[in-house]
Formats: sequence, C-alpha cells, structure tokens
Amino acid sequence: MRRPLIAGNWKMNLNRADAVALSSDLVNADKSSEVDVLICPSHIYLDAVSSTLGDSGISLGAQDVYFEAGGAFTGEISTGMLSDVGCQFVILGHSERRHVMGETDSLINKKVKAVLEAGLTPVLCVGETLEDREAGNTEAVVKTQFEGSLADLSPEQVQKTVIAYEPVWAIGTGKTASPEQAQEVHADLRKLLNDRYNSETSEQVRILYGGSVKPDNASNLMSQPDIDGALVGGASLKADGFTAIINAANQNVA
Ligand code: PEP
Repeated sequence: MRRPLIAGNWKMNLNRADAVALSSDLVNADKSSEVDVLICPSHIYLDAVSSTLGDSGISLGAQDVYFEAGGAFTGEISTGMLSDVGCQFVILGHSERRHVMGETDSLINKKVKAVLEAGLTPVLCVGETLEDREAGNTEAVVKTQFEGSLADLSPEQVQKTVIAYEPVWAIGTGKTASPEQAQEVHADLRKLLNDRYNSETSEQVRILYGGSVKPDNASNLMSQPDIDGALVGGASLKADGFTAIINAANQNVA
C-alpha cells in the first residue's frame, strides 16, 4: 500500500512573512495523519519555513537544485545547501523549468542523480503539452521524459523517487485532466516502472497527479488506483484549501 503524498509547490509566490504564516497555519491545521505532506517554498524562504515546521512531520522541499556540489556556478544552489536547511525533497523537471527555462531530460537526469546521491528525494515531473495530446503523442512524450530523466538509475534508486504526472495544459489553467485521463497516463507510468525496472519498483513508487487540483476535484482524482497523491500549485497557497486536499487524500486510504 502506497502512502498518499500531497505536495504544495508555492512557485515564485509569497513573501517571508506570508510563507512563515502559511507554514504555521498548516502545522496547526486539523489534518489527516495518514497522508504525507510536503511544502516547497521559494529557495530564499526554505530556512525560515524549516524553522516553522520544526518536528511537525510536514516535509520541506525545494523547487529545483543544481547538480554540481559547489563552485563557480553563480546563482545556483547545491543539494548540500538544501540538506543544510532541512530539505528532504526536490521538485525536478517541473514544466515551467522545462518550457520556460529550457531544461532538457539530460540536465534533469543529472539533477535526479545528484539529489539521490545526496540522500534527498526527487519529485520528477513529466507531462505533455496540449499540442502533444491533440496529436495523440501523450504516451510517447511521457515515456521519453521518463526514460531520459531516469537514465542510468538502478531499481533501488528509482524506488526512492516520486513521479508527478502534470499535463502542461492543466497547470495553472483551471483545466483538470479527468480522473480517467489521469489514470490512463498513471497506469502507463506504472507499467514503464515494471517493464524498465521490476514489479517491486512499480508497486512502491508514488505517482502524483498535478494540474489544477482543488478541494472539489481532489477526491475523485485520488480515488483512481494509480494516483497516489497530488502536486498542487495555486491551491497550496491557502491553508484551508490545501488542508481540504490533504483530507481528501485520506478518504482514499484503504
Ligand atoms: C504545479 O505547480 O505543479 C501545479 C500543478 O500548479 P496548479 O495546481 O496551479 O495547476
């Protein structure tokens, strides 16, 4: 049985006071203890949010990292720096990094390896654009991203990874994939995990859905057999809404 994970991606939002207030509200919220909760603030507020989270059980994640351990890489942040401020997870290959910053599968693969080597958990995002979907290329695009981003990893390493399926056309648009559309791609990913690695890997790896998840659609999405939680953008910026999504995931815990 995979434990649900609800992850909040705060993107480039909130100031220091708001980030601390939101994390404090989440610590104090009446929420399920059967669901893992992760929040990913902007790098600059990780330290402040880490202090607020303390030993609350809510995990802290970053939205990106560089693959080198240190040195002359102006503006970048290393896995060691993330560990130092209490991060346990790192989102990698988010569609905004792929499509706005031009990140490739090969760069994302280097980052996945660096994150695993540092003992952190990658949350690897994959997903097709609307153009890909309309051309009937969803399965092929997701497969290419999966294989490229996870290249050269052992089954044991992949077992320590979280995957997030995020159709680009559903991110921040208010358009959600239907539970059936999402389940279809999650089942493809589960099969890829089985075929490329083994059944243990396919049974263990959590596959989150992301793309306009809100309190009112979360339960239906997470009732699908291969959807193990959600990566939430906009709706993670309000404690009430994010808590409702956490508690919706709990309804589907067997
Ligand atoms: C995201 O940031 O990964 C995301 C899915 O955003 P939203 O929930 O706002 O669509």
